[in-house]
Amino acid sequence: MELPTLPTQTCASAPFDHAKADVILRSADGIEFRVFMLFLSLASPFFETLFGLPQAPDGASDQEMKDGLAVIAVSEDSKTLDTFLRFCYPSTLAEDPSLDNLTEILSVLAAAKKYSLDLIERKVCQALANPKVLEIDPLRSFAIARNARLKHETITAARYNLRQPLIPALFAEIDLITASDFLALLTYHKKCIISVQNLMKNLKWMTDHYVNRSGCGWLFSSGSHYNGDYCRCEQGTDKRFFPWNAAPIAWWTTYMQEVYELLQDSPSGDTVRTAADRTIQKVRSANCAACSGRVKEGMTEFSNLLALKVEEAVAPVCTLLYNTDKL
Ligand SMILES: [Zn+2]
Repeated sequence: MELPTLPTQTCASAPFDHAKADVILRSADGIEFRVFMLFLSLASPFFETLFGLPQAPDGASDQEMKDGLAVIAVSEDSKTLDTFLRFCYPSTLAEDPSLDNLTEILSVLAAAKKYSLDLIERKVCQALANPKVLEIDPLRSFAIARNARLKHETITAARYNLRQPLIPALFAEIDLITASDFLALLTYHKKCIISVQNLMKNLKWMTDHYVNRSGCGWLFSSGSHYNGDYCRCEQGTDKRFFPWNAAPIAWWTTYMQEVYELLQDSPSGDTVRTAADRTIQKVRSANCAACSGRVKEGMTEFSNLLALKVEEAVAPVCTLLYNTDKL
């Protein structure tokens, strides 16, 4: 009988090409990984059981063999297999791979679950706390972390998600979490919004920080000279934003109005800083020599202060995310 023609197979790269390896794992895309059973058995009870099964006597098994080694076909592709094998191997032989996108994290996570690689599951999930991943996909990260019941990663992702609008667009991993998980996230977000509102209604944190008007002279310079330059900016009229009951410069009032609106949806320090960068650009391109020279310094200090206050205001709210019996 003629054997069926197998697709061209190639060997994986080091360290999965070792001559003394004792088993071969073949990925879904036909790459052969020569690995040591011991490392896999130590990392995973699944492999420990699999490799511990009694071998059938020679010739009595339909086990595929190659170079005297058993060949085990797995359903993972070579990229995923490579990543999770690196996690299984001792770090002297293979460094933990870096995972910096969610698609990779998800497929390795699925493999880790399937093969009961508990330690690796935890390590993979730590990649969810990678700011690179969080900045792009806070909501997807939240869903994955919540699904894996990881408290720290869930809270970190929820906090990054405050940069986004309250009601998100549909996202790929929404089905990983339950409606009550999602409701917990929305409630958290909403409570953070409420908590931050007080900051904008009472400027005590600001007047405490600068002590008096001369502590932030740039804010009250309209119609006066500053370092030889005359400030031709107008004064603000929105009395909600009058520190010490005095009218500040109009562009700052505009900034506060904008931030007030933005924080109603995205209560994050990042919101405050990003809006400050826009204000700095705007003021610099406006026609005031006095302000354009010092807006950056003044607004950087001010927005860092406000961002810090925002982060402090939302920090205690995170108990909402785990003070349930579920996490
Ligand atoms: Zn000015």
